[in-house]
Amino acid sequence: MEIKITHPDTLKEKPESSKLGFGKFFTDHMFVADYTAGQGWHDARIVPYGNISISPACTALHYGAEIFEGLKAYRRPDGEIQLFRPIENARRMNRSAARLTLPEFPEEDFIEALKTLINLDRDWVPSEPNTSLYIRPFLIGNDETLGVHSVQNATFYIILSPVGSYYKEGLNPVKIMIEDEDVRAVRGGTGEAKCGGNYAASNRAGYRAEQKGYSQVLWLDGVERKYIEEVGAMNVMFKINGTVVTPALTGSILPGITRKSIVEMLKKEGIPVEERRLSVEELAQSMADGSLEEAFGCGTAAVVSPIGELCYKDQVYIVNEGKIGELTQHLYDTLTGIQWGKLEDTYGWTMKI
Ligand SMILES: *Cc1c(COP(=O)(O)O)cnc(C)c1O
Repeated sequence: MEIKITHPDTLKEKPESSKLGFGKFFTDHMFVADYTAGQGWHDARIVPYGNISISPACTALHYGAEIFEGLKAYRRPDGEIQLFRPIENARRMNRSAARLTLPEFPEEDFIEALKTLINLDRDWVPSEPNTSLYIRPFLIGNDETLGVHSVQNATFYIILSPVGSYYKEGLNPVKIMIEDEDVRAVRGGTGEAKCGGNYAASNRAGYRAEQKGYSQVLWLDGVERKYIEEVGAMNVMFKINGTVVTPALTGSILPGITRKSIVEMLKKEGIPVEERRLSVEELAQSMADGSLEEAFGCGTAAVVSPIGELCYKDQVYIVNEGKIGELTQHLYDTLTGIQWGKLEDTYGWTMKI
């Protein structure tokens, strides 16, 4: 792939590490490539970060033809920069593309685009503890027509945002409400695709939970509202009687790369782990009889997020006395250690750039 590079006239001032937050600041450059049916991907380019121009009739705006990815570049103690399993993001984006009949972007070009762009904006990768450069690839249907046809034109972008530490005061257990009204996704729908539409469907429940003082909702399956699926925009795991249980990927759950990595780590360390259906009754029972030892969400942004309290049909359960579980802390320390290059990567998950 040939990438044409255009630089901005002046480079932006970089924000202070303490003010980063999440997704508020963007770097100097962004990657763009266009797709035209019959021609394929063309005009790969890196241009100054800035507003984009699309037709008001653009498919992405009217019919939700949008998919995205999320990963991070980490500053190692030796000053080098590395990615965590980026090929998994490339593959998942293409599975999302297939589900929404958007064109797939070649994996090797995805990696090359990432590397080239991050190298140009290298100085934007922060080095304060637990900060990183968040990478947001996204792909939109870009046809200038209100007709509902297969996508003829699409555009792929990558933008970069330096982000702060997710946890300001260490790992903090959160309060979660089990949602039994709205559903996020159904099997056969788009639940396993990383698309903006899933987020639109989730917002109302998330907002209601916030109003009641909860951080996020625990989603149940869309058909029976019986089986646990995800927590907010993260996958979820429970340690019950010494075994880690996480919902099996049945089609309505997003296949998280953090989830996959934790399952692989647990297996390697000889800690029992099961990917299976877990009903809300079984979970409630495990909370009532004390066999639920730990609960946590997992995803790229937070890595792991301990759950300290769960509310189901107005009944409140406290998990592990509202404290971080030992295994949750261990998984957090190991995964972040590998990601930031502080621990040896015996899995071959990291890619220096
Ligand atoms: C991105 C995402 C996750 C987590 O995936 P990671 O690859 O671990 O970051 C989980 N659930 C939803 C709905 C997501 O969008």
